[in-house]
Amino acid sequence: AKEAGGNSYKVFSQLAEDDDQKQLILENDLRNACETEQLLVHYQPVIDLSTGRLKSFEALVRWKHPDLGLIPPGDFIPVAERSGLINEIGTWVLESACEQVKQWHYLNDTLGLAVNVSIRQFRNPQFPSVVRDVLEITQFPPHLLILEITESMMQDDYESVRIIEEIRALGVKLAIDDFGTGYSSLSKLGFLPIDYLKIDRSFTMEMLTHPPIQSIVQTIIDMGRNLDMELIAEGIEEEGQSSILAECGCQFGQGYLFSKPLPAEEIETAYCLSSLL
Ligand code: C2E
Ligand code: CA
Ligand code: CA
Ligand code: CA
Repeated sequence: AKEAGGNSYKVFSQLAEDDDQKQLILENDLRNACETEQLLVHYQPVIDLSTGRLKSFEALVRWKHPDLGLIPPGDFIPVAERSGLINEIGTWVLESACEQVKQWHYLNDTLGLAVNVSIRQFRNPQFPSVVRDVLEITQFPPHLLILEITESMMQDDYESVRIIEEIRALGVKLAIDDFGTGYSSLSKLGFLPIDYLKIDRSFTMEMLTHPPIQSIVQTIIDMGRNLDMELIAEGIEEEGQSSILAECGCQFGQGYLFSKPLPAEEIETAYCLSSLL
């Protein structure tokens, strides 16, 4: 695997202009990565902004490429999505993360777990049964699992509604990720059973310096609360952002202020010994 990786990197840089070729090499490497345990999951804490207590973790996948080092998901999820490998990768992330957080339940049995779901996974008619199987294999409590989808996946066609309902029937929660950045009609929010809205990082970043952005954030929070949804703000990097979000009524938040996404072992040293977990 090491050899093949080395070769493909050379070819990769030589053919840098050829996007199709690049895609093919990356796709090949990724297929290999799935088989040789090069993928790993990092965990980012989600904090209750009013109490400072740990609520849950978001699972974020990483690829430890033998030559290119740690590749962020933004660089390979699109490749996985186009090639269909995302189904395999997504199932692996879901199962690994459920297994891991289930272990942490010995210390804190209310700990939630959020897992990102890509559109191709979500559109797979088998998806609800995959989730059911993972819950069964890992014995993870369904009500502590949050699946994060994006606005563009909230179609009101028959198939999407069926999938959402089947997932809900398992007792699993749903979150809309990156809320406010997609082009969805707000009316869908009133028809689909969504538990959480995640306020996109772009809002969190701008809200202290741009008063109109703060008004928009306040409006999202009020709307979510009126619809009985819980709010999670992403990308909190400063104390000021955390306190203003809490004042606006946003209950939960995550971001570098609290912690970067970390490998499981580092989460254990950071949290197990503290009162948070
Ligand atoms: P996302 O779901 O919106 O995840 C949040 C991203 O923001 C993560 O990037 C996280 O590391 C980063 N982040 C968290 N706090 C802060 C902060 O305070 N400041 C800044 N600047 N960034 C922060 P990451 O891990 O690179 O993931 C990027 C995207 O890749 C994710 O965005 C998600 O859409 C996708 N992704 C990650 N893991 C998976 C997965 O297992 N499956 C699928 N389908 N997509 C995934
Ligand atoms: Ca997410
Ligand atoms: Ca997000
Ligand atoms: Ca985002």
